[in-house]
Amino acid sequence: APSTVTLGNNFARALPELCTPWKAQQVPEPELLVLNESLADQLGLHSIGLRSPEGLQLLSGNLIPETATPVAQAYAGHQFGGYSPRLGDGRALLVGEVTDADGALRDLHLKGSGRTPYARGGDGLAAVGPMLREYLLSEAMHALGIPTTRALAVVGTGQPVYRETELPGAILARVASSHLRVGTFQYARAAGDTALLQRLADYAIARHYPDAADAENPYLGLLEAVIAAQASLVAQWMLVGFVHGVMNTDNTTISGETIDYGPCAFMDAFDPSSVYSSIDLGGRYAYANQPVVAQWNLARFAEVLLPLLHEDQQEATEVATEALGAFRAQYSAAWLEGMKAKIGLSDQDDAEAARELVNEVMALLEKARMDHTLFFRRLSEAVSDEADPPGEGGAQSAAFADWLTRWRSRRPDARLMNQVNPLYIPRNHLVEEALAAATEGDMEPFHQLLGVVTSPYEERPGLERYTEPAPEDFGDYRTFC
Ligand code: AMP
Ligand code: MG
Ligand code: MG
Repeated sequence: APSTVTLGNNFARALPELCTPWKAQQVPEPELLVLNESLADQLGLHSIGLRSPEGLQLLSGNLIPETATPVAQAYAGHQFGGYSPRLGDGRALLVGEVTDADGALRDLHLKGSGRTPYARGGDGLAAVGPMLREYLLSEAMHALGIPTTRALAVVGTGQPVYRETELPGAILARVASSHLRVGTFQYARAAGDTALLQRLADYAIARHYPDAADAENPYLGLLEAVIAAQASLVAQWMLVGFVHGVMNTDNTTISGETIDYGPCAFMDAFDPSSVYSSIDLGGRYAYANQPVVAQWNLARFAEVLLPLLHEDQQEATEVATEALGAFRAQYSAAWLEGMKAKIGLSDQDDAEAARELVNEVMALLEKARMDHTLFFRRLSEAVSDEADPPGEGGAQSAAFADWLTRWRSRRPDARLMNQVNPLYIPRNHLVEEALAAATEGDMEPFHQLLGVVTSPYEERPGLERYTEPAPEDFGDYRTFC
């Protein structure tokens, strides 16, 4: 039975200074909206049990297993460049840790579970739309093979949430390899207690980068590992046209998983300045800025680690600066490898020719404002001379024809391309349509879209509408969560 599920309190015991024991607000009538059965199985949480009334009690936070010590985690963070010393789980709880089928420790976390000591002015609640949005986007991301937190369930609370209008409330049960953020380290550093910072770093190393423990300087090993993980992550976002939307340091994980799907979106027409968040007026977190912002966030991480990097802070700064310097090359290498695969030229003898073709195609794509996803997917059909090139208008230019000729001469691998270029992504107009229906109580469009985007590479008949860009009248997309 769900009440006998064993949840660890590994974090709460190791780092009590960085959390506050807390309980979820009681939900009178929890209703299961969606459950991730395969993830439940992977976590050893029986999906049948989770569907039972007792399972719903667990997923809504009404019932806490006897072994658990739920906590609200503390963290700080730079939000749009400005430092906030005290953020933390304002509307979320770490219920506890589960050991998954691979023996790895995973956090079980509830979002929308009521006010906590970190709630500041917030109501501690979440509406159905944004919680289903995180479920859909994170599961799509996982299916694309990109590191991310996962979604286990969304439970409707039966209680209203007041935003611009009254909306139905919900709780998301989320699973992550941990909820350690750059902001967690910022908080520990600001506490002025180097022993605490060191305990946090040791915890992060043990949980995510055990190899760093054997390094000559384990904390430098940690810094380097996080830099590498984030460089790889952001490269993968760029390759699929994902805009996170709120890359604050509190939304930058130590594990390298994508976290906190708020005003994020996949872009349609390729445009480096794409930004969807209604509050990001300056475009700080626009598509093309993401690698730069990631590096900036990692610099904040390096700064707080300084006391652990070397006794001499001058030396520590030099070591940190050198580690940060590796980001750009790592990011570029990951991006280029991914791009070569997208155009089917992974194993070229002439790496320079492949690189040129990559750079040229990006310029053409930008100029013609072609649909990012469809362009790469359809390009695989143009490997032979007979096929029509993808795109219309600008894509038919002489420059593009010339590019196609040179690209074909390198014998691109269409099969490889279709393994890395998704056909089905959570397109903004489809996401909005599904969430609007769900808010009105109809979960059918959500379940259909979820089924489509969690199998992104394999073309299936009858799903044409899921591949098409937004209709003209959808207009400029803005997200408000
Ligand atoms: P986010 O933008 O979701 O990453 O959240 C930024 C910070 O605001 C975190 O500390 C959240 O816990 C907090 N927060 C966001 N929404 C609410 C809410 N409705 N009630 C309380 N805290 C919130
Ligand atoms: Mg405490
Ligand atoms: Mg956040």
